[in-house]
Amino acid sequence: MIDMESSAREIPVLYLVVPCYNEEEMIERSAQVMSDKLRRLMKEGKVKAGSKVMFVNDGSKDNTLKLLHKAAEKDAIFSIISLAGNYGHQSAILAGMMMARKYADVVVTIDADLQQDIEALDNFLTCYMNGSEIVYGIRNDRSSDNIFKKTTALAYYKFMHMLGSNVITNHADYRLMSKKALDALSEYQETNLFLRGLIPTMGFPSDVVYFDVKEREAGHSKYTLSKMFTLAMDGITSMSVRPLRMIAGLGFIVCLFSIAMCIFSLVDWAGGNTVPGYTTSIIVSLMMGGITLFSLGIIGEYIGKIYMETKKRPRYIIDTFVWKEDDNGTA
Ligand code: UDP
Ligand code: MG
Repeated sequence: MIDMESSAREIPVLYLVVPCYNEEEMIERSAQVMSDKLRRLMKEGKVKAGSKVMFVNDGSKDNTLKLLHKAAEKDAIFSIISLAGNYGHQSAILAGMMMARKYADVVVTIDADLQQDIEALDNFLTCYMNGSEIVYGIRNDRSSDNIFKKTTALAYYKFMHMLGSNVITNHADYRLMSKKALDALSEYQETNLFLRGLIPTMGFPSDVVYFDVKEREAGHSKYTLSKMFTLAMDGITSMSVRPLRMIAGLGFIVCLFSIAMCIFSLVDWAGGNTVPGYTTSIIVSLMMGGITLFSLGIIGEYIGKIYMETKKRPRYIIDTFVWKEDDNGTA
């Protein structure tokens, strides 16, 4: 339902923020599809002239940046932020959103590989016009994922909810945020931003849009297993410090070892081959050692997080920024 206040919303200037990491196979096609869609939206009067596609090059090592510059030279609808290194998907979209909010009324973050259905933009905009400040894109199903990603993703969402986090199941950063919501987000100064967990805690009227996920047309997933693992860990502790995590890993291995030793010594005991007290003491000392190390590792994760926060390092560094006045975006 459209209420009086929100129906008075003006047609917005929309910026698409597109993180790119080694996307040379995809980027030209994505640029074409995204600019076509944006121009269509301008023609239909759903977004204002001056709307843009803002690419965030996340320290790509291939020709991505070169191709982006080529596209931006030809067409002022494209803007480029190039980060000084590979800061990861979350930082890349944050960099894009923080820059885009200076020019745009609404920002939609979308992956460079066109897996997320760009046609859903119309629905995102409708929700915005109806008064939402944040609109979450939720994938309809996971049929395009392999069985490993499917099961780990679902288990992860379950686990996160168990820990009390309000991440939205099957929402992966395909999201609209209004300038108001982005200004609020900019107030969060922590180094470790886990956007999917943080944004739902901000409040604001919000809505969801369902969309289909397609197969990647070219290139391969830039989310390696270790990147996925890091994202998952950051979601839980909001940071990662590897040596501390290794302590937790070590503790876990010791736990497993102690279980094996328990069984071993119990069997020994049943066979009557032990001096009295040996079994109990070995079980207790091994168990306690494992559990202590494991716990220390977890505490260490949080101390590491505090350590990184106290440094107040920049969350990303921008190397170059390309933005041209677009006199007539509807061409
Ligand atoms: N990406 C990025 N930095 C990274 C890894 C990925 O900016 O370190 C971008 C990537 O170019 C893509 C988006 O994040 O636009 C999502 O990555 P991908 O499609 O590889 O992930 P998947 O869809 O497999 O989860
Ligand atoms: Mg993808």
